Amino acid sequence: MTTREEAARLDAADELAVFRDRFVPITDPGVVAYLDGNSLGRPLRATADRLRDVVTQEWGSRLIRSWEERWLELPGQLGDELGRVALGAAPGQTIVADSTSVCLYKALRAAVALRPGRDEIVTDTANFPTDRFLVESVAAELGHTVRWIETGDVGVADVAAVTGDRTAAVVLSHVDYRSAAIADLAAITRVVHERGGLAVWDLCHSVGSIPVELDAAGADFAVGCTYKFLNAGPGAPAFLYVSSRHHETFGQPLTGWMGAADTFGMAEHYVPAPGIRRALSGTPPVLGMAGVQEGVALLAEAGIERVRAKAVALGRWVLELADAWLVPLGFTVASPRDDARRGGHVTLRHPDAERLSRVLIENGVLIDFRRPDGIRIGLSPLTTSFAEVRAAMDRIRELAG
Ligand SMILES: *Cc1c(COP(=O)(O)O)cnc(C)c1O
Repeated sequence: MTTREEAARLDAADELAVFRDRFVPITDPGVVAYLDGNSLGRPLRATADRLRDVVTQEWGSRLIRSWEERWLELPGQLGDELGRVALGAAPGQTIVADSTSVCLYKALRAAVALRPGRDEIVTDTANFPTDRFLVESVAAELGHTVRWIETGDVGVADVAAVTGDRTAAVVLSHVDYRSAAIADLAAITRVVHERGGLAVWDLCHSVGSIPVELDAAGADFAVGCTYKFLNAGPGAPAFLYVSSRHHETFGQPLTGWMGAADTFGMAEHYVPAPGIRRALSGTPPVLGMAGVQEGVALLAEAGIERVRAKAVALGRWVLELADAWLVPLGFTVASPRDDARRGGHVTLRHPDAERLSRVLIENGVLIDFRRPDGIRIGLSPLTTSFAEVRAAMDRIRELAG
């Protein structure tokens, strides 16, 4: 069942198909398919309008009064909304700020400081570069040791094998950026806690794609991007979640005035604000937050459960087409075939993937090359159609054949 008619049937049955019109149309006629929304989600029409309002009204007319009237509250307000819609996080535990890299640094330093006397940080060798680099630099900064898990598909047993009474924190991605393998966030968090450590989760490839239940799982810290599945825009700010269990005691190293108890008191020394607000450092990126607001609002309308169901169906469609057309040409599937274990993208491997990726992009099939030999097919349920996926797979077959 790989026909154009089958793609049309799947699109006709798709409850989320109506949301495609809410995005800025791709006017470049050279684009056959956009399968990179997990790196940079497409812009919403509403974001363009919202940005215009922010510039002309909030900034242009209300001028500096907008800080008091609205902007200073945005990091917490948007964090609460994101927590409700996508993270399974009760209000008061999430802020929108900085980049994922900066939020991860803060979260990891905070976690490690909550476990004095323990001197090991755990992560995996296949984790995203920024995560590995920050784990290494925090370890170097504090004289800690990194314990590496040697896999891109981290299970409970892997974590159990390297954690113990020296473990301060474990930093893992919920969905692996290359293979799309989903880690068992709740079970791994439980093991980390049994060993006395704290769990720091990177949700970049899960937020807005699969349901996350941070509170229910007992997660300690979490960070993630908004410019991928949340479509907030290039360089839009990240989010940082700190469980309320740690609000009395956690501190973070970038002690700027926005995280201080009395921001405009111009105090002589830093006194942390109560609760999650102390996770802030500097002035919030108001323009970038406009996209976050619209992206989260659209997700709330669509519902994360429906988004996940379509991501699974799109993934299955990629696998079906790959098995029929590409496996005979020497491709292999690098993502889990079990729907329950696969996130929102599918990675195919091919010995000539690097050159082929360049050719595909030149031919309007916008995928991602992932070293050493992966072609990553990103599936964004609010914008990707089954026909678009089929057109892309057809081009891959033609160009690789
Ligand atoms: C995209 C991504 C990042 C990016 O971090 P930035 O600070 O926004 O550049 C971090 N971690 C993972 C797992 C990612 O996929």
